[in-house]
Amino acid sequence: MAEQEHLLYDCIVLGVGSMGASACYHLATRGQKVLGIEQFDVLHTHGAHSGHTRIIRKAYFEHPDYIPLLKRAYENWAVLERMSGEKLYYPTGLLYAAPAGDLLIEQVKASAKLYAIPLQILSTTECNDRYPPFSIPDNYDIVLEPEAGFLDVGKAITSYASAAVKLGAEIKTGEKVMEWKQIGDHTEVHTDKRIYHCKKLVITAGPWSADLVPGIKDKLKITRQVLSWLQPAEVDAFTMDKFPCWMIVKPGTPGSYYGFPAMKPGEVAGPAGIKLALHHLGQATTAKTIDRSIQPDDLDHLLSFAKEYLPSAGTTITDTATCMYSNSPDEHFIIDHFPGTDKRVITAWGFSGHGFKFVSVVGEVLAELVVDGRTEMKIDFLSVDRLG
Ligand SMILES: Cc1cc2nc3c(=O)[nH]c(=O)nc-3n(C[C@H](O)[C@H](O)[C@H](O)COP(=O)(O)OP(=O)(O)OC[C@H]3O[C@@H](n4cnc5c(N)ncnc54)[C@H](O)[C@@H]3O)c2cc1C
Repeated sequence: MAEQEHLLYDCIVLGVGSMGASACYHLATRGQKVLGIEQFDVLHTHGAHSGHTRIIRKAYFEHPDYIPLLKRAYENWAVLERMSGEKLYYPTGLLYAAPAGDLLIEQVKASAKLYAIPLQILSTTECNDRYPPFSIPDNYDIVLEPEAGFLDVGKAITSYASAAVKLGAEIKTGEKVMEWKQIGDHTEVHTDKRIYHCKKLVITAGPWSADLVPGIKDKLKITRQVLSWLQPAEVDAFTMDKFPCWMIVKPGTPGSYYGFPAMKPGEVAGPAGIKLALHHLGQATTAKTIDRSIQPDDLDHLLSFAKEYLPSAGTTITDTATCMYSNSPDEHFIIDHFPGTDKRVITAWGFSGHGFKFVSVVGEVLAELVVDGRTEMKIDFLSVDRLG
């Protein structure tokens, strides 16, 4: 009995990756007795957060309802920076470029207008003069979002996890949740080591969500994504004091290419050179079967993009990585109570390749849903009901 009481938590967070680490912290700040359970280490390369850096931006072309959440996310990142003493957010600006009339730029402008987010409109000449590594065609629309930039993934996740532990949360790593079940007014969580009990359960299992959230197998599409790092001969022109993050649409390629400035040694963990990738739906896979080997096809289109739009980036690949998107049917997140559990189970999944910038606010929303059963933040557009 004493053992069972010891293993009874106010809340268990299943999966301490990006969203889970933040949820553990925000729950612990609300005085909850929290247990986070993670199958690997708190930071690892098997899920959705590998690759060291993630873009953060506010002029959200995907849906303007994300913008109030993003405003809060920026505030929460600043709080975490102050609390941890770590630099997490690098305001390099983000350059968007697309053929004239492309929806991407139209929607960035519309979202910026709606929420008064500063944007600078650049001509091709202004862009290529200000940032000499770019070679953007003449018929392109170009805008710069100065308050955008990137986040240091490793420091963000570990800072949230350590802050949670300091506040009394327990985080078990190397322990895999096999199943959970509702027993009376609490939930049992069975791992490969033991059984825990909790009043509330939060499931933040990223690409493994369909194994743990019943009924979503046909709604969650996991896709394989490839990241590459290129070493320019004249790397100085690409460092973050001179070069921004960017997203560029290339006609004929679905999605958009994106990239980051080069990090100086010791600035942010990760390979040397500039990170370059394609944000697109990607090839269907599963967390169990993903092919981690890199094929020539994975890199050929990245190199041919670089040759055309960033000619001085060169063709020397210093590193590559694979990662997974967890796509919902409409590529918007799902943050909601799990039906039929009397608000005792909350799920957050389907972050669809654009969730990291929201980590700092999603953890807070999840904590509010656990403690208060509701949140003041507007998340109706992320409800599970919309999927039918
Ligand atoms: C290549 C790439 C580029 C991206 N770029 C951007 C970007 O620029 N900007 C942006 O905002 N977003 C970006 N994203 C998206 C962002 O990284 C993800 O949306 C975010 O990391 C998802 O977090 P998560 O918590 O859902 O998943 P994860 O971080 O993978 O966490 C899930 C955790 O649950 C654990 N887990 C699963 N099952 C179990 C189990 N049974 N027992 C115990 N633990 C379990 C996993 O091990 C994992 O640690 C990108 C994603 C990728 C792949």
